[in-house]
Amino acid sequence: METDPDMNERKVFHACQHDCPDNCAMVSTIVDDKVVSVRGRKEHTFTRGVLCGKVKNYDQRVYSKDRILYPMRRIGEKGVGKFERISWQEALDAIEKNFRDVIEQHGAESILPYSYLGHQGLLNGMHCGDSFFNKLGASIGERTFCNATASKAFRMVAGPSGGVDPESFAEANVIIMWGINMLSTSMHHSRFVIEAMNKGAIFVVIDPVRTRTARRAHHHIQPKPGTDVVLAMAIANFLIKENLVDMDYIKNYTLGFDDFAERARQFSLDHAHEVTGVSVQEIKDLALLMVNNKAVAIRTGVALERTANGGDAVRAIASLPALTGSWRLPGGGIFQHPQGTFPINRNALTNAQFVEDSRNSVNLFDLASALSPDAIVPIKSLFVYNANPVIAAANQLKLLENLCRKDLFTVVSEIFQTDTCDYADILLPATSQMEQKDLMYSWGHYNIQFNHKAIEPLGEAVSNTELFRRLAQVFLFGDDVFTRDDDEIMSKAMLWDHKNLDGITLQSLTEQGFARLNVGDPKNRTPHRNGEFPTASGKFEFASSQSKSGGDILVVYRQGVDDKKKYPAVDALPSYKPNAVPDDGFVLISPKHHYLLNSGYANFNLDNEVANKQMVMINTADAEVRGIKQGEKLTLWNDLAEVSVFANVTDDVIKGVLVVSHGFWRRHVKGNTVNALVHSKPSAIGQGITVNDTVVFIKKHRDTAG
Ligand code: SF4
Repeated sequence: METDPDMNERKVFHACQHDCPDNCAMVSTIVDDKVVSVRGRKEHTFTRGVLCGKVKNYDQRVYSKDRILYPMRRIGEKGVGKFERISWQEALDAIEKNFRDVIEQHGAESILPYSYLGHQGLLNGMHCGDSFFNKLGASIGERTFCNATASKAFRMVAGPSGGVDPESFAEANVIIMWGINMLSTSMHHSRFVIEAMNKGAIFVVIDPVRTRTARRAHHHIQPKPGTDVVLAMAIANFLIKENLVDMDYIKNYTLGFDDFAERARQFSLDHAHEVTGVSVQEIKDLALLMVNNKAVAIRTGVALERTANGGDAVRAIASLPALTGSWRLPGGGIFQHPQGTFPINRNALTNAQFVEDSRNSVNLFDLASALSPDAIVPIKSLFVYNANPVIAAANQLKLLENLCRKDLFTVVSEIFQTDTCDYADILLPATSQMEQKDLMYSWGHYNIQFNHKAIEPLGEAVSNTELFRRLAQVFLFGDDVFTRDDDEIMSKAMLWDHKNLDGITLQSLTEQGFARLNVGDPKNRTPHRNGEFPTASGKFEFASSQSKSGGDILVVYRQGVDDKKKYPAVDALPSYKPNAVPDDGFVLISPKHHYLLNSGYANFNLDNEVANKQMVMINTADAEVRGIKQGEKLTLWNDLAEVSVFANVTDDVIKGVLVVSHGFWRRHVKGNTVNALVHSKPSAIGQGITVNDTVVFIKKHRDTAG
């Protein structure tokens, strides 16, 4: 950090806190204790000084007149959004009284925390309230929104490996972005892709939609949603049949090849064409691109897992570099998620020892059901932070109905008054990233970062760490963990003597802002050249030895607590289950919006129709047979709800598929948003969400639609 006393100006290092893999290194300029600009840091090897268009209002967001700056109490009906200011003491008293009454009358499990990645920090992010709620005896919130299935599936075959280094993509001969719109959701990775392309690499995108990323690819392959496992298994079958696999790698570093090969035989090229819609020639060409001693770098995106077949797709795709031996070369292999590479001391953040074996748990994506008055464990208090469930959880209409229950007490800690806030009894003011310290890891690269506090909190906003310190004090929790200040939490948050942190200390991070983990030089890094997969066998497991526990949710998504529920065992090998879509129905997928950060920044994009006009992409042929015109108002419907949208007639999406981005707010579109159409049907592997299996129908708009 630099200071200029004459100008009363300071430069302060930060890391972007949003739910985004890039975790940009930032520097703010502070003049007279006010943030006057926020820029990217050029020195950062991954994000290289550029911030994305989503955060163009970063500093304005800090000082927005719409910030929640004081604790508030609801004064109108639930859902109306009317509040009056109260003191922190009054807010804490109200929470204490409610929680103590609920515990006495119904038990502590009738209190449910709801949170996710509204903040990514190790201090103020996903785990910030875990110790408190684990100690309180509250139900465990299972955060299955993203990566619960993909990481579980990947670990079943490859263990918690970080996989191929995202920076090593620059060394690849072939790059495959599978189910990820990199330019909209991880734009800084594109520099490494371009570097490889400039050296002659072939760039392939596999996505049902011709996204911004797909437009830049040499080859764009468009399988139907949920059929990626069939595509990957057909490639595997072709490679095995044609003797194009690396038998030396398979013999030495993998297990279960014979069983896998037999399973793959079920996926002929013709069958794959019929199921996926991808031509036989395209599948063959893609398979041939992957062989002949090439470094093939595959990145799987979060879209891939969001179907009932998502976990199988991840396992099948992860099998491809093990078949071809691509792991032998720098840039060869697959990048799924690097969380296993960051030596995070999760138990210091979650304190799972406070939780007894039989503790109730709730899959938070199905909050609507959890809040039903007739739920087996009735939820009487809901505490929301780092999340906007009205826009993010399944079955929006049922959720709204249950949020209006008179016997439900809801607390929401937020920066802005979201749709969820409108249902709160107590609103608490949260700080922005400029107003708090944090330690940040990334799920898109191997850098750890220190976020400095640049300014004092505005109004009476408090960081999440301070919020839970205050609550712990109210409930007289005496354990050390509840009195730690932010520096002490940081000192415990990582396993600082782990080899991946060699030479990296809290002090060095404080001074420099970021450091790349000690995981080798991306130019020649080959993490699995000689196998060494962190599985039970130490080998890549084509047939997973973990199939019995394949349904369990990873502890990272369960407040650090092991999943003791009994789920059915999953198939040890990838398999495919067709999605039943009626002839007149469509598969609806709801990806991230190019200009929004999940539901974040919607309130900063209201002057240009970005955030107040829900568009649906529909294929030209599908539109023509229904007489749908460009821009026409339509109603999407199914058994759950109706949603009003405007037609974007385009060939960028394949027939039979509709695309509506998620993240819109009800108050901006004046009606239901896309999650109103989404069922909660957890995936068999890891219990993740299956939103991209949603089936809907179209009708011409009626003014009475929701
Ligand atoms: S949202 Fe992502 S890409 Fe944009 S500034 Fe933050 S970390 Fe960087």
